[in-house]
Amino acid sequence: MTAGRVADRLLIAGVGLIGGSLALALKARGLVGEVVGLGRSVENLRVARRRGLIDRAELDPERAARDVDLVVVAVPVQTIAPLVATLAEALPRGAIITDAGSVKGPVVAAAERVLGRTAGRFCGSHPIAGTEHSGAAAALPDLLVGHRCVLTPTKHTAPHAAKRVRALWRAAGMRVEEMAPAAHDRVFALVSHLPHVVAACLVNAVGDAGSGSRALAYAAGGFRDTTRIAGSSPEMWRDILLANRAEVMDALDLFSGAFERLREAIARRDQAAIEAELARARTARRGVVLRGPGTVRRRSTPRARLG
Ligand code: NAD
Repeated sequence: MTAGRVADRLLIAGVGLIGGSLALALKARGLVGEVVGLGRSVENLRVARRRGLIDRAELDPERAARDVDLVVVAVPVQTIAPLVATLAEALPRGAIITDAGSVKGPVVAAAERVLGRTAGRFCGSHPIAGTEHSGAAAALPDLLVGHRCVLTPTKHTAPHAAKRVRALWRAAGMRVEEMAPAAHDRVFALVSHLPHVVAACLVNAVGDAGSGSRALAYAAGGFRDTTRIAGSSPEMWRDILLANRAEVMDALDLFSGAFERLREAIARRDQAAIEAELARARTARRGVVLRGPGTVRRRSTPRARLG
């Protein structure tokens, strides 16, 4: 590999918001040779070419995988392992593979299973950045910059693969850390997957109300802030919720408990209980600092060790 580059030929399998933003960041910094984009829609690949995200577009995985030295699979999570299996048949022996999936346990296990003896070349990743938009048109050169990327190497991951994948995300401006896949899925069920379900239900509940469409016309900042993520890709989120089903169900049970407590307090006209629940939430919310879009950190507590 040429010095100073993360890859001479990088394959982005799935040139959407995340894959496209990664490609843009690397190209803007001159840290990659050729970028090949594998997609399933000609139209999206055309946008990717026109915007300079990729140098070459392919619809055929086997053609896309030829002579590539690093692969990022950035498709919906249930498609990651099947695509890794197809690509692996055509990839050069030394090529390293990572993904960008928002769920890690089942995705990493399935990818390692399909790779079999060559599982060491795979290291899972989750870049913690995004917007509610999708596709190549939504990619941004600075989307990933300054945000965290969680790597989930396992006992099967070759150290040189983890090193290469770490260098990839760092080159795109991310702060890389590691977690065990199961720990990752527990954390993100709470802070990402649960909020998504809540936002979707909130929009649906208001829309379903008899006066819903009239009420929505009056929705202002509060409604917009709490429901922004409900505008995300249903396909991507269907996969996330199903892949992380057990952890999401636990998170939903926690939410149901909190919801019922407040609902009951309102039903009972219990002023003290209502205020206590709201005060508890305010204290917890004020105890975190927003650090740029999408990143929240606890105030003055040591960084949690996860994984
Ligand atoms: P996206 O919809 O913007 O992009 C996905 C792209 O993959 C699309 O262009 C789609 O056409 C393509 N694709 C789907 N199946 C394919 C296949 N079989 N072969 C080739 N291309 C295929 O989605 P995204 O937001 O970039 O998400 C990609 C991955 O990154 C997902 O696994 C998601 O969980 C993860 N992720 C998303 C976010 C976010 O906020 N959007 C954040 C972090 C991680």
